[in-house]
Amino acid sequence: MLNSQDKKALQVKGEDCFILAECFFDRPFKRPDYLFNQRGKSAGSAHLQRNIIKFNATLFKHNQDEFINQVVAHEVAHLIVYQLYGKVRPHGREWQDVMCNVFNCPATTTHSLDISKVIGKQFSYLCLCRTHQLTIRRHNKVLKGAKYLCTRCKGVLKPNSHLDNGP
Ligand SMILES: [Zn+2]
Ligand SMILES: [Zn+2]
Repeated sequence: MLNSQDKKALQVKGEDCFILAECFFDRPFKRPDYLFNQRGKSAGSAHLQRNIIKFNATLFKHNQDEFINQVVAHEVAHLIVYQLYGKVRPHGREWQDVMCNVFNCPATTTHSLDISKVIGKQFSYLCLCRTHQLTIRRHNKVLKGAKYLCTRCKGVLKPNSHLDNGP
């Protein structure tokens, strides 16, 4: 969970972005509700029709600079684009223009956040062509007899016992 100071920092940054957009486009934009329950590996998400931005509290704690410098602008840009143009490609031309011209941010769609805290322990497996990282849930299924195939080489994944303390 985030404390109120963390939530405030994200909301203030979001408001900064909206004010920049209002100056740039010379029109008002409806403010979203901010939620802090984004799950999984995503830093955040923008829910266009509901006008909600969700942030990943766990990722924020370990990547505060990236959130303040990039993630907030990324999600706000989705809502700005939706209010301006309706439904268009999520990271298309319109979104890229808002990121570059209004927020002065790189229009990257991937982030380089430290996600180790949200993915849990990974188990290294080998097929015929590369290594795979399996979650503990899948790893336990393998121990009970499940077989996973590599989508590329169709080889059965086998525990790579050199890289972890697996069986
Ligand atoms: Zn996006
Ligand atoms: Zn393979």
